[in-house]
Amino acid sequence: MTAFSYFISDLHLCAERDDITQCLFRFLTDQAPKAEALYVLGDLFEMWIGDDDLSQFNLSIAAVFKRLSDSGIPVYFIHGNRDFLIRDKFAKLAGMTLLPEQAVVNLYGTPTLIMHGDELCTKDVVYQKFRKKARGWWWPRLMLSLPLKIRRNIAEKGRKTSQKNHTKLTAEIMDVTPDDVVESMQEHKVQRLIHGHTHRPAIHDLTLDNQPAQRIVLGDWYDQGSILKVYKDGFDLTSIDF
Ligand code: MN
Repeated sequence: MTAFSYFISDLHLCAERDDITQCLFRFLTDQAPKAEALYVLGDLFEMWIGDDDLSQFNLSIAAVFKRLSDSGIPVYFIHGNRDFLIRDKFAKLAGMTLLPEQAVVNLYGTPTLIMHGDELCTKDVVYQKFRKKARGWWWPRLMLSLPLKIRRNIAEKGRKTSQKNHTKLTAEIMDVTPDDVVESMQEHKVQRLIHGHTHRPAIHDLTLDNQPAQRIVLGDWYDQGSILKVYKDGFDLTSIDF
């Protein structure tokens, strides 16, 4: 059997969407054990207000990932813009290894840059300003020092504001900036990039330094599951029904 790795992102798990959660559980139990590794590229959760928010729901998610990693399949996680407050405590519970926000992994001979992808949406200036603050040192520290209840209120409010702002932004602003894609790939010396965030699953062919290159965009899990399988000779981006 050919060795392969799986990539998923943008599940936006929350207690209200049991269909998404059940689809993930089936994927982790039936399909993921056949892979060599699983990479979760951010926005696993709709929101994350701190590793001390150990709800029954959050614990159940941690447990299924832990079972997979205990069975010998490494699980890697890169933060998304919704769950960037995940820290070592939850990662340990879920048996996940936290990776930096941009990482280069060698996938069967092809160096591949992986990230959530929100950093490539540079035309959304307001968001990038928030991102800088939220990923810095003082903002997370301040947030995490507040009582859970207050953090939950702030997060809910932030989610509503961002939804309101998004209806005003054009499709172009919501997508990645092509020049920044090229720049990141050149900086990391790769011909392949995998990211999520935009909820626009696609394989984009491009030319970098006169060589064929690819940008693979993972899909979100709003209406169906979306998984990317990468093996030596190629990859498949497919969806799974809820
Ligand atoms: Mn995102």
